[in-house]
Amino acid sequence: MTLAEDILSGSAGAAARLISLIEDDAPAAADALDALAGHAGHAAVTGITGAPGTGKSTLADALTAHYRAEKLTIGVLAIDPSSQVSGGALLGDRVRMQRHAADPGVFIRSLATRGWEGGLAGAAAGALRVLDALGKDVILVETVGAGQVELDIAAAADTTLLVLNPGAGDDIQTLKAGILEAADVLVVNKADRDGADRLQADLEGMTALKTGDDWRPPVVPTEAVTGRGVPELAAAIARHREYLETSGRLERRRRSRLRLELLGAAEKAWRAAVRNPAADRFIEELLDGIGRGALPPRRAAAELVRRLAGELDR
Ligand code: GDP
Repeated sequence: MTLAEDILSGSAGAAARLISLIEDDAPAAADALDALAGHAGHAAVTGITGAPGTGKSTLADALTAHYRAEKLTIGVLAIDPSSQVSGGALLGDRVRMQRHAADPGVFIRSLATRGWEGGLAGAAAGALRVLDALGKDVILVETVGAGQVELDIAAAADTTLLVLNPGAGDDIQTLKAGILEAADVLVVNKADRDGADRLQADLEGMTALKTGDDWRPPVVPTEAVTGRGVPELAAAIARHREYLETSGRLERRRRSRLRLELLGAAEKAWRAAVRNPAADRFIEELLDGIGRGALPPRRAAAELVRRLAGELDR
């Protein structure tokens, strides 16, 4: 059986292998992902974003326990943009997920970027397809930090959680632009700490101002370490999904995920084309023109794009 077929028949080992191939940007990864292309779309994908230490892993673990009690199968993808470490190694440290490690209904993987040139978000979109094709009902995508990659990945999730903590004071102020807007559900984790009510009220005040959308992000207090508030969080996620389905927005989110994958693949194809020795002669010609002052560099770049795009076509 091919790798894709193994994954479709539920092999976690095959899924792990393909994610490693994606990380390494191996040619076999692209083939297998193509073979899986028609089989995705079952899983409900929830992204978990927020600053390091806010409790994203603990929350992923608590949500996993909650969904397992409902007999749902779970895929957890932990994404670390800064990590060059291979998958698994990072997760070895993630003791918080260990209690599910032996459960065949739970598939946990981290995603690092090693050789991938199509952008981490593109790799993440590929890994999401793998977990989806593996047949998981729910996929939790945990990202580290709150930058552009997180925004891209939020675009690929059906529902995006933003995890905040009370007492961090300037928490709301330091949020990267766009992160709050990208969040569908706001989570006040560590609600056992002072200031949780205040943060919740502040956030509710902010979301009340949000216009132009008929979904107002709920603010849910949780205590990930004890599981308090987790059923309410799961209910909020389910409500958001229902909203996506009834409003037709689910399709749009799915399209965003495909878009990431497409752009990632295009970027990769482009880099390969630029580095192809066959492009060298044309590049030299352009350099001659620039050197003589006959060709402005920006026009040369446009020429190069046009020429290489022609090559890609063939
Ligand atoms: P991440 O970096 O966002 O994934 O955060 P972690 O899940 O690793 O959690 C960071 C720390 O916060 C750990 O020591 C957790 O035990 C702790 N933590 C997580 N949730 C809660 C909570 O609800 N209350 C308290 N007091 N601590 C929590």
